[in-house]
Order: sequence, then structure tokens, then C-alpha cells
Amino acid sequence: MKIIRSILEMRNLRKNISGLVGFVPTLGGLHDGHIAHLNKAKKKSDILIASSFLNPLQFSAKEDLYAYPINEKKDLEIFKNNGVDYAFLPTKEDMYQNLNSTFVDPGEIANVCEGKSRPGHFIGVATIVVKLFNIIEPNFVTFGQKDAQQLRIIKNIIKDLSFEIKIVEIPTIRDKEGLALSTRNTYLRSEEKKSANKIYQSLIMGSKLAKENNINSKFITDKIFSKLNEDPLITIEYIEIVDPITFNQVPSLSQNNLLVLAVKIGKARLIDNININTNE
Ligand code: AMP
Repeated sequence: MKIIRSILEMRNLRKNISGLVGFVPTLGGLHDGHIAHLNKAKKKSDILIASSFLNPLQFSAKEDLYAYPINEKKDLEIFKNNGVDYAFLPTKEDMYQNLNSTFVDPGEIANVCEGKSRPGHFIGVATIVVKLFNIIEPNFVTFGQKDAQQLRIIKNIIKDLSFEIKIVEIPTIRDKEGLALSTRNTYLRSEEKKSANKIYQSLIMGSKLAKENNINSKFITDKIFSKLNEDPLITIEYIEIVDPITFNQVPSLSQNNLLVLAVKIGKARLIDNININTNE
């Protein structure tokens, strides 16, 4: 595995790569969820490129950019052991020379749910993803369903900006209690981990209520709110049932609905989602 730390070197190498290039972008702080991406991408590609770049543009001043638990040595081992040919770890200075004055705005979808809770977050994500696409020119990329709104935004970017890149969706990898794996899970103390397990239980409850033909979204989200709100360690940011294309709230369930939520537990801000549908 070759480690690359500059855009110029990455571009020069890319020029001489032939065959199908798969790309797995990450922030670093790798876990088994990321490994699922690497394994899937490895099977589909001739050359596998993975990046680790803690993108400051997608963190607000009050978020955990400086605490984000990254262990570069461990991440590089994981890349190497999972078939990565080129590990791209650019420096902030190289990625943001003199800071950007040009940004990619994903539009209305960037202002709801995660975008509403984290203003500017998706402009930061969209801008870095477009930069990485231009530097790496992959044939396909993997993105995780855990970050459902991000996944939708990347699909829009590929279509709207005419990138010739295929997207491979990776289902959410969970631990044995159902908690979606996340780099931020390392912040959880043992009591907090028990509280975090309730996130998936509440999504399952929502899915069950939908299957029992409760079509009123508020009825379902109120039930989940009550369940999570009982736990003093959980602070709810939002619980919404949305259209999976626009991420706008739907008052009553239709054919395709996504139940999305964000909570804070201790130092960890956690998000998760599940597709919910009625039985009809
Ligand atoms: P991150 O490093 O958190 O930005 O994640 C990099 C990629 O891994 C993104 O496409 C995420 O959606 C995806 N990802 C994060 N957690 C999981 C998980 N538990 N299961 C599957 N994919 C994940």
C-alpha cells in the first residue's frame, strides 16, 4: 500500500492507473463499518483508493473537530489489511490553500434534518467530496446508508454536476445490541452505551408501529420521543419521518418513508435511520 499526502502526487499517480478505480472516502477513526466499505469496494475494483481526511469545513466551531478520535497508525493498518492500494491522507494546508472561496451548495435538502441541526455541514461535505472526486477520478465510490441524508446529497451531486461515477451503497453495520457503528461511539461511557442501545430499539418500534398501519407520522415520532426522553442521559435533537428524496417531513406515511433521528448522549452526537412502511 502506498501512502500519499499531496494532491499533486495523487494526481500524478492516478494518471498512470488503468482499470476500475474504487474509492472509499472517510474522516478517519476507522471501525468495522468502514471495513465493510473497503471489503465491498475491493471486490468490485481493480485498484482501491481510500482517503482519510478530517474535513474542518464540515464541523462547526462548537463541534468535536479537535477531539475527533483518530489514530492514524491504526487507520493505516486497517487500510493495508483490507486491500487498499493507495491511502490518500492529504494535509489541510494542501486541501484548503488560502481557504476556499468556492463552495458546493446542495440546495434545500442541506437545510433540513441534519442540515438544520448543523448549519453549513452539508456545504462542507459537498465541497470536500467534489474536490476528492476531481482529484481521484474514481469509477465508483462507496457511501453508507447510516448517513442517509449525506448519501442522498452525494447522489444529487453526481447527477446534477454530471460526474461519471457510480455510487455503491453500504448498509449500516451495527454492533450486537443494534447500535450503529460510529467513530463517535468511542466517546460513550458504559452507562451511556446502554442509553445509546435504545436508539435502534426505538427505530424498530417506529417500524413496528408503521407495520401496524399507524400512518400518522406524529403519532409514531411522539411515541419514540417519549421512549427516549424517559432516559435522562439522552438529549433528543430531532426525530422525524421524511421523504427519502427531499428529507422534508411527511405528515402521514406514504410508500417510502425514512425515520431519521439525532440524539446527544454525553459527548457523543449520534444519528441513525430506518426505512419504515405500512403493510399496504
Ligand atoms: P465517516 O468517516 O464517518 O465520514 O464515514 C465514512 C463512510 O462510512 C461514510 O460513507 C459513512 O456513511 C460510512 N459509515 C459510517 N458508519 C457506518 C456504519 N456503521 N455502517 C456502514 N457505513 C458507515
